[in-house]
Formats: sequence, structure tokens, C-alpha cells
Amino acid sequence: MKKIAFSQIDNLLAAIAATQKLYMPVETAGQYNYGEWTPGTTYNPDVLHTVKSAKSVFFPQSEDLIRFKRDGMNLSISPVAPEDEDFVVFGVHACDVKGFAVLDRVFLYDPVDAYYTSRRKHGTIFSVMCKAPEETCFCGAFGIDATEPGADVDSWIADDALVMRANTEKGEKLLESLGSLLTDCDDTAADQAKAETKEILGKLPLADLNTNGFGKDVDLLTLFNRPEWKELASGCLGCGTCTYVCPTCQCYDVRDYNTGKEIQRFRVWDSCMYSDFTMMAHGTNRPDHTQRFRQRFMHKLKYYPDRYEGVFGCVGCGRCLQKCPISMNIVKVMKKLGGEA
Ligand code: SF4
Ligand code: SF4
Repeated sequence: MKKIAFSQIDNLLAAIAATQKLYMPVETAGQYNYGEWTPGTTYNPDVLHTVKSAKSVFFPQSEDLIRFKRDGMNLSISPVAPEDEDFVVFGVHACDVKGFAVLDRVFLYDPVDAYYTSRRKHGTIFSVMCKAPEETCFCGAFGIDATEPGADVDSWIADDALVMRANTEKGEKLLESLGSLLTDCDDTAADQAKAETKEILGKLPLADLNTNGFGKDVDLLTLFNRPEWKELASGCLGCGTCTYVCPTCQCYDVRDYNTGKEIQRFRVWDSCMYSDFTMMAHGTNRPDHTQRFRQRFMHKLKYYPDRYEGVFGCVGCGRCLQKCPISMNIVKVMKKLGGEA
């Protein structure tokens, strides 16, 4: 275990940023999102959730893939190379760390996503345990221990210090590079901080939420055909906000943009809640709004666990509970269809 006085955290961040890019929660217009550290950026330990999750560092909302340019009869095609510089993402909480495990199963395996894979290879994740989980948090329902995020480096704010432990080779390399900024310590302060957070987690309103009624052991068609989907979907605006703030949603669209000088082919986050999602020449696969609504929740609670050894496609971060304009969310779906109306 290593530690640094919390008053020295800006020095820690500056030392990391001196050798590689550093992403962390950054405030812009009163909202926190992951952005690049610049001199003067400080870490605010009181901010629990960024609006968009840390997913945006590895899978950006929009990124260029290929550029096409025509010059007379010549056509040049220039693929945009995946990013290959090392970087650190600081301040990630357990839910977002586990969100990467959900994305990894999709993007790291055949067909491999070169852009995401390269960022995962070059990125070191530095978690900070959440000190004050909110009433919308329910990571425990999916078996996630908020006090042990399992990032390359895990850290805990305890006794006016940031106490940290490397879990991987990348994490060890990062802590070694910080040299004399860090001092050795034992587990006592971190254990105390974990116990305090566990106590808060145990008292949260969603502490007893469970996944009964979902997962790979329930019958797919029975869940799919439940009549309650229609009522649950009835108020949903199809705005897609829930998918944009979600650390595990992974749908995207690929589009071309004519700049007047060249064509930029880029990919951009998409949402299964949209009526034109995966639109094809014959139309859309899910013309009815209830079908689109059901797809989002079936994917997280049934299709994903069916495909990936029972692992759920939700990490209980609670962002969709906070941001949905009509207060519809995955917890209401789990309660209604799981039997606890
Ligand atoms: S579905 Fe909601 S609670 Fe679950 S990971 Fe996505 S935003 Fe978080
Ligand atoms: S569930 Fe809420 S946030 Fe998601 S699309 Fe419907 S209205 Fe928008």
C-alpha cells in the first residue's frame, strides 16, 4: 500500500500528467465529465457521478474512422489510426470500472474493435472508492463491491490521505513512476474507509434490490412476452438519455460527413430507444415503441447474461435514475417484472 496526503493530490495529478495524458472528472458549465487534465485542474472528491461515464474515454461519443478524398480521377482513402499513446484515467468508481468489463466482452473479442482495444491496451485505470454512495446507487444488486473496484490502481480517501494499491502490472508501473511522492502504509486507513462506505451502502433505499426474475436461468420468451412491458413503456419519450449516460451501452452508428474538401466517416453513439435505430431499406426491426423499450432492458437483464455466463449488462450506477425526464428506469423494470411491484 502507498499513500499521499490528500492536500497533495494536485501534485500527484501533475506528476502523472507530466509523463502521459491524464483524464479525470472535469467541470464544465457546472457539470462534471471525463476530460483531459490541464494545469489548474483539481479533483473534487464530493462529485459522485460524472454525467457521462468513464466509458467516453475508451469509446468516445464520436470518433473519426476513415477519410476519403477525391482529386480528379484519384481517390485517396486514409484510415484514422487507433490511438497508441499511454494514458491514465483517474477517479473512476467501481460501477464504471465494472462497466469496462461489460464493454470488453463486446469490443475485445471477434470481431475485435481496433479503436477500443488500443485504448484499453494503453489506458491505466486509477479508481477512487466512492465515499458517499447516493440513494440511486444499486451496484450491489449485480454483485459489485463498491469498496473493491478492481482497477489497475484502486484508491481510498482515508485519514486525509489518498491510500492506494496497484492490482496489475500497469498499475505497479504507474505507482513506481510516482517515486518519492508516495510513502508506504498499511491497510488500516483503507479498511476503515471501506467499512464506512459499506455502512452507507447497507442503508441505501435500493440496498435490497435483487435480480430475481432475470438472468440466464429465466425463460426468455416468458419474460419477453410479459404484458407489463406495454405499461412500463407507455410514458417513455424515447429520448435516449438513459443510453447516453450509461457506462455499459455500446450501440453506435457509422455515418459519412462531407466537409466540402473530403468525406469523414465517423462513428457516433446511437440508442436502441430511437425509432430510426438500425434502420434498413425495408424499415426498422422494431417499429413499435414498446418493442424498443423492451429491447434495452432485455439486453441488459436477459440477452447479455445469456451470452456472457450470467453477467448482467447493468452495473447499477444509477445515472439513468437521475437523468430520465419521466423517472422511468431499470429499477422500475426490475421491480415490476421481478415481482416487487
Ligand atoms: S442501465 Fe442505468 S443503472 Fe444500469 S449501468 Fe446503465 S445507466 Fe447505470
Ligand atoms: S427511459 Fe427515460 S431516459 Fe430512457 S428513453 Fe425513455 S424517457 Fe428517455
